[in-house]
Amino acid sequence: MKKEVLNLSRRDLLRAAVAAIPAAGLLAQSRAPKGRIDVHHHLFPPGYLKEMEGEMKANGFAPRAWTPEISLDLMDKHDVATAMLSPVQRLVLDSMSEKNERSRKLVRINNDYNAQVVRDHPTRFGLMAALPLPDIDGSLKEIAYAYDTLKADGIALWTSYRDRWPGDPAFEPVFAELNRRKAVVFYHPAAGTCCRNLIQGLGISGIIEYDIDTARCAESMLYGGIPGKYPDIKFIFSHSGGALPTLAARIIDDYPKANLDRLPHGVEYEFKRFYYEVAHASKTAALDAVKDIAPISQILYGADVPLRSYELTNEGLDVYQGFSRADWEAIYRTNSERLFPRLKG
Ligand SMILES: [Zn+2]
Repeated sequence: MKKEVLNLSRRDLLRAAVAAIPAAGLLAQSRAPKGRIDVHHHLFPPGYLKEMEGEMKANGFAPRAWTPEISLDLMDKHDVATAMLSPVQRLVLDSMSEKNERSRKLVRINNDYNAQVVRDHPTRFGLMAALPLPDIDGSLKEIAYAYDTLKADGIALWTSYRDRWPGDPAFEPVFAELNRRKAVVFYHPAAGTCCRNLIQGLGISGIIEYDIDTARCAESMLYGGIPGKYPDIKFIFSHSGGALPTLAARIIDDYPKANLDRLPHGVEYEFKRFYYEVAHASKTAALDAVKDIAPISQILYGADVPLRSYELTNEGLDVYQGFSRADWEAIYRTNSERLFPRLKG
């Protein structure tokens, strides 16, 4: 009996110690001296919602009211200085096809509104402009407009366009132009039409499909030699790379030898050059995996707000023990400052 009491007491002590770790972690890890930069943050332009209302409702996607102030309030509560805004999933994607005027219009509405938000709050928001891919001509025109007129910080692409992935040779003129612009490209996950509704009742799994599509996007680009041919583009993958980090070794081992001339430095080199943001993929397994394939300089903070809460990402980061204080500063801010130098301030 006495032993039992002693054991319980030890257990209680252990519990208390474990409970103290998040608090200690929070103090050490949640602050960046100049505030965090969140590279995965969505906007909902009112004109865009109006245009897409019917399709959104038909697809079970509830339109939501959004104002910059809603995001600013959340950012202030979570020590986020700047959020790089990108379009919300499914708003443009499914309406897109070759030379579709509506896609061009939706993309323009998104980009013009985003640019206005940035003009109103230049230090708090950034513009990751949408493109009407797979419309190549429309995308090239939008790249010029986004950079030359709107002063975009980067470009937001989907990991796939229905059943076409970015390594598709037809997309090459867009990557050639993005390379010339030394663009930062933020890849947001999508679900190919091949792989929706595979499990009855589940619909599109925003976890499995998006994370697999992220890996498929990277594999498609590597197969097509895009990072080797266009080395000045900086690619950011979402959610700690989705399934990519755990599949990386197999992709490296099985990469077709006949394609190696497309990647002069090899596949592993490109994994180390890609960037990975940690939104809702910040538990130990995800962070250990991404740390295994890329240096700290390539890991960025993102949270997928307002679709997800900051808490969902931060609760993993706040207790993770695998980064030093200098690493946290890099992840929360200075790695992103290198990508978006105007935020150095
Ligand atoms: Zn997102």
